[in-house]
Amino acid sequence: MAKGFTTTILHSDRQSPIEHGSVHKPIHTSVTYGYGDARELAAVFQSRQSGYRYGRQGNPTVSALEVKITQMELGVASLCFASGMAAIGALPVGLLKAGDHVISSKFLFGNTSNLWQTTTDLGIAVSYADVTDVEHVLAQITPATRMVFVETIANPRTQVADLEKIGALCQERGILFVVDNTMTSPYLFSPKQVGAGLSINSLTKAISGHGDVLGGCITDTGAYDWSRFPNIATNIKKQPPAMWGIAQLRAKALRDFGGCLSPDAAHQVAIGAETMALRIERQCSNAAQLAELLSAHPNVGQVYYPGLTSHPQHALSARLFKAHGSIFSFELKPEIDPYDFLNALSLPISATHLGDNRTLILPVAQTIFYEMGPERRAEMDIAESLIRVSVGIEDTADLLADFAQALERF
Ligand code: PLP
Repeated sequence: MAKGFTTTILHSDRQSPIEHGSVHKPIHTSVTYGYGDARELAAVFQSRQSGYRYGRQGNPTVSALEVKITQMELGVASLCFASGMAAIGALPVGLLKAGDHVISSKFLFGNTSNLWQTTTDLGIAVSYADVTDVEHVLAQITPATRMVFVETIANPRTQVADLEKIGALCQERGILFVVDNTMTSPYLFSPKQVGAGLSINSLTKAISGHGDVLGGCITDTGAYDWSRFPNIATNIKKQPPAMWGIAQLRAKALRDFGGCLSPDAAHQVAIGAETMALRIERQCSNAAQLAELLSAHPNVGQVYYPGLTSHPQHALSARLFKAHGSIFSFELKPEIDPYDFLNALSLPISATHLGDNRTLILPVAQTIFYEMGPERRAEMDIAESLIRVSVGIEDTADLLADFAQALERF
């Protein structure tokens, strides 16, 4: 990306001519695409000519968003889906077969963890590694290992994956390295720089930012040599190897599975993306100041935020990410009831979701990780009293004052 992050996003739609000088890509609602010459229609269907066929497989408004995300990720191509989970779910559907093996971080967003359970039931083995140390990943590799999957900063306990070393290991072994970049976003981190072949973003989070639209995206960063991937179908191999991954995901996961992003949702995400850098800067700055405030307060136990020097991967986070993210988690002193504390806050909303303009807070074990049960939570280092905060863009002084007054009540 030659120009700066925000400049590139703001002017991306105007790189190709759009109707009436519109500065936004229009919302194309047509589901089907007609051709004056029936031979042209056949040529498009046979991939001899580029063009749109049917809305489930591609749409001009969605394509314009895909171009933006590819630029943000410094990648070669992207595919949008109806949600972040639809994008993650596209991985087993589009790229894996029964008998394959996946190594996944054991520190994982709960729904992704549930998805791996489903793929296990379908005959794809998944083993879980402490990805803060590449040695744990190395120890799990088998001849059937096709993919290593990690989150940059784990949701909710903020463990930072050993990204550079895992990337180098995967490159050496020809294993596809997939990074869920949702907690950092392409503004804070490019998975390409550590050799990840695919980067995944939930567009629902910081990229759109306003909590009013769902979306997900897979970007091929160009860092993986697809000729080393054994599961590419023969018809896909007619294209150059650089396009194999996205082509197979488009066919098997988008066309055949159908979890496509709507053009209206693509437009909303694109509008949100225009201000993502500004919002994320403010969120990260607010998060850093709140984490400092809490870690110095006698009513607070542990605070987990990569920006604190006490965090085990603080140095790695400082080296790899533009800032340390907008999510932190913490434990109160045992005598304080977490529900009473949450109810004593006036600005943060008790709600799930991340990367929103508003500060959101929840007790983790009782909500998003409730279904897992105490044993799985313990394996993931999630204490029963853990509270997660997704910090918004409210004025810093207001947030600091609100947390301070709530802490003083106990
Ligand atoms: N990845 C991470 C790290 C998440 O936190 C989430 C949702 O919270 C997702 C993926 C799924 O995204 P979506 O809610 O858009 O399906």
